[in-house]
Amino acid sequence: MTPLSYFFCRLLWFSALLSGLGYGVVFLGCWLSSGLSYLGKDSAAATSLVRERYLADYLLTNAKLFGITLLLGALLGVYALLVLRGCGLHRRRPVLRSLIVVALLSLLALTVAFLRGPQLFIEPYLAGGLAAKLLDIVYRIGYPELFQLLLWGSLLPALLGLWKEAGAKALVPVMVLVSALSWWSLRPIVPVAGKGGNVILLLVDSLRSDRVSGLGYERQTTPEIDKRLADAAIFPNTYVPLPRTLPSLVYLLTGTWPQQHGIRTMFPRQDEFNRLPEALPENLGEAGFTTVAVADYAGEILHDLPVGFDRVSAPQFNFRSIYRQRSLETQWLLLGWLNNRLGRLLLPELALLPNNSDPEALVDRVLTTVGGLPEPFFLMVFMSAPHFPYTSRYPDDRLFADPDYQGPYRFATPFFLPEGHQRTSSDITQVNALYDGALHGADRALGRMLDTLKSQGYLNDSLIALTGDHGENLYEPDAGLGHGDHFFGGLQSVKVPLFVWGAGDRLPPGRYDAAVSSIDLAPTLLDLLQLPPLPQASGVSLLVRDETRPVYSETGLWMDPTNTEKFAEERIAYPGILETAEIDFSGGDEIVLREQYQHKVITARHRLLLDDDWALLYLPARNGVRYELFHLVSDPGMTRDLAAAEPVRLAEMREQMLDWLRMEPQAQLRRDYVVFPD
Ligand SMILES: [Zn+2]
Repeated sequence: MTPLSYFFCRLLWFSALLSGLGYGVVFLGCWLSSGLSYLGKDSAAATSLVRERYLADYLLTNAKLFGITLLLGALLGVYALLVLRGCGLHRRRPVLRSLIVVALLSLLALTVAFLRGPQLFIEPYLAGGLAAKLLDIVYRIGYPELFQLLLWGSLLPALLGLWKEAGAKALVPVMVLVSALSWWSLRPIVPVAGKGGNVILLLVDSLRSDRVSGLGYERQTTPEIDKRLADAAIFPNTYVPLPRTLPSLVYLLTGTWPQQHGIRTMFPRQDEFNRLPEALPENLGEAGFTTVAVADYAGEILHDLPVGFDRVSAPQFNFRSIYRQRSLETQWLLLGWLNNRLGRLLLPELALLPNNSDPEALVDRVLTTVGGLPEPFFLMVFMSAPHFPYTSRYPDDRLFADPDYQGPYRFATPFFLPEGHQRTSSDITQVNALYDGALHGADRALGRMLDTLKSQGYLNDSLIALTGDHGENLYEPDAGLGHGDHFFGGLQSVKVPLFVWGAGDRLPPGRYDAAVSSIDLAPTLLDLLQLPPLPQASGVSLLVRDETRPVYSETGLWMDPTNTEKFAEERIAYPGILETAEIDFSGGDEIVLREQYQHKVITARHRLLLDDDWALLYLPARNGVRYELFHLVSDPGMTRDLAAAEPVRLAEMREQMLDWLRMEPQAQLRRDYVVFPD
């Protein structure tokens, strides 16, 4: 190998140093201007908590990011000079020119990152000004492949430069390294062959039954699910007992109703977890299954759930994650280069950003996990993609969207609207397009996963179920956005589809239209496997289900007291999440509900009872409990309250509701309120 000339060596050092410094300055600029906030909310309490308790970790987190940024900048400086050498442009003002090349390469990387995942750039987009204008122009151009090609194309002059300066021998190790890295980051992941006999539970967050194209939705949102429908037992009318992720998963896995244990909010205490009844993974574990859960960001709660998984592969979330995420999500230069397989290895927080959900990355992790698992296994996959803020990656972000839409919902649902912006009908159309695009991305990833597992034999004689943890309101009239606050404006936030494959003659493929509860799934799977039932489960096997049993649901914790949706004035009030929750320093710094609000949040919740085609709403207001009655077949949007017109049915269903409320432990009924005597 020819040694580099002294002159070129010094140039390389200069270029690396200056480029690294430039990256460092940008890092500090982003860091100092971003501040501490979570989900768009600045909190003085959270900021002072970080200062008092987490300062060392906070600084260390940023020091690590700073170190990676400096290194990245320095490497780019070297690379840029090699590109110049390859083009023969290194003789005049080489260091200045190399800095220009670094800037151009950084812009290209940012462009690719933005076009592949525009939702990560929602803050500068919403801030307006020059940055927003530039983003608009780049988004209109589209084609991330083109910019990616330009970026890869710069390898040619760089390699030529290396060859010119250091000879052909220097090329060999560099080419090997570049090829190995490219192969590693682009390779398809396929596990070695398996035997089968497994149980696979697929959960898609916020999966609405009426948005599955094979169940009648007009947009082609779920082609992969659709092509498997002929072999599925389909329950399009499955209702969850409480439309919030953590409680819903608890009920699904234990087959229990909310009042059977203490898990009623997203923020349970450790002692409430300790009281959980036996769950499906424990039962399957005892029967010889290896039990594993693989999840992305909204499935972080699986780490806390003591339900008997041998292994949980999911990002961790606690108070530390809030500032770790924040520190990362405003470092644009890092995101430009590292939002990929290598980046996720270096910066695991990338997988936690709600704005960065990538179902394909989750499926890669599932396939890697399955490769080493002893069979038979119980695999639960939790996919967050269609969850708020409904982000998807290219091309799903554009699939259903109006290309001319330019409002604040363009790339993702913002946590707060810009000052003075009133929501328009085109905003609502865009939110729905974003959700449908995210669902399409989730469906594609699920299809790849099932195809790969099938081709490797893992699905032979296996039982597969697919459902959601809850549905979603998407600005239907009276419904607002989200899930878990109320049941107004239709049942899209509680209704999920349930598909079961591989059940054989005992649950043959076909459509089963009766209303069922998601707590029936675990008993059904155990029945199909001919294993003992869960001792405390209230759910019943769908193989024997009595179709006259009513189905119940209730709302969760209100996060925001300033909510102005329907009934917000009359509902029983309590403060917002910053006051009702605290950090439990005794157990992993988890966010938990304060003891003094435990009872009030149960008294205040809305309840839903479904019977035949009727829905009864139980609404505890400050001046008495109100009931509303709806006929779901003629009025699915629940706009005509028939409580006065149908007194007999109202009385019957009210009695059923009161019977259910009497199951509330330690509580009494007074004037239909659920009250807790001191
Ligand atoms: Zn969820």
